[in-house]
Amino acid sequence: MRFDILTLFPKFFSGPLDHGILSRAIATGAVEVAMHDLRDFTHDRHRTVDDRPFGGGEGMVLKAQPIFECVETLGGPAGVGIAAKADRDLARQSIILLSAQGKRFTQATAHRLAALERVVLICGRYEGVDERVGELLADEELSIGDYVLSGGELAAAVVLDATARLLPGVLGHADSSRYESFGLSDADLAGESDCHPERSAQCAVEEPVLSLSKEPASVKSPGVPRSTHGAGGLLDYPHYTRPAEFRGVPIPEVLAGGDHAAIRRWRRQMALAKTLRNRPDLLANATLSDNDREFLATLADPISDR
Ligand code: SAM
Repeated sequence: MRFDILTLFPKFFSGPLDHGILSRAIATGAVEVAMHDLRDFTHDRHRTVDDRPFGGGEGMVLKAQPIFECVETLGGPAGVGIAAKADRDLARQSIILLSAQGKRFTQATAHRLAALERVVLICGRYEGVDERVGELLADEELSIGDYVLSGGELAAAVVLDATARLLPGVLGHADSSRYESFGLSDADLAGESDCHPERSAQCAVEEPVLSLSKEPASVKSPGVPRSTHGAGGLLDYPHYTRPAEFRGVPIPEVLAGGDHAAIRRWRRQMALAKTLRNRPDLLANATLSDNDREFLATLADPISDR
């Protein structure tokens, strides 16, 4: 998969791209990242990329022209450039404008992007980008959260990292990106519905579906590790490693017992409890069994606990 990043600060990315999983993915060729300095697409002596806003007001606006010209000159593997907007879906390409006004970037978005061959990330600066970039060039605007950053570079690095780690072969263990926060349900995992197109079209689903099944399907599914549940839209369960006791706090007894069914049950309950405590909004769309609901009903209302 290839990412093209359009930015005024190409060096900004040397940190995120030079360490850990991303740097390995680039070294193995699983991910290709090309950096494009928008100032290279200006035509004046001062390499001007911004101008004053029509209608007045504070700050400057990033001009449309360098962004359009940069995209128009983008080559790619085997000389394949960026498709016309109408053909981009078919070409498995997307141009994304990072913006505080965009749709929220989520794990589901990362899965959807990981099914593409090429993603162009446009990093804004100043008061933002001339609106015609969003209207005519970009396929979508994405926001990484409800706050305002001083530039799109951090947001682009977030989108790149979250997407790249879902690609086949990027993580040491494929299951690492499957059994984690915001992950698929047991039923979806058992159906081998990973989001890469070679495996399934599951990634088209933006929101987890509500399931009323009595028991998670993985209980009967040989493909799912016995001590682990698919998150089904919940947060991950707590993890512990050695030593078994640290600063007077022992690990939960169940984890040392070797009873896989009990470990599964405990992990599921801890994921439910943590989601209720930290992100109760996720529960509305999570895949919950009757057992899950019964357990949740036993937990104290976090609001009356405050
Ligand atoms: N005037 C804009 C507004 O109020 O929405 C904020 C512009 S911000 C200072 C400059 C650039 O940072 C934006 O063009 C965008 O690329 C990036 N940016 C800021 N917040 C972001 C967010 N939450 N998600 C993604 N990109 C963001």
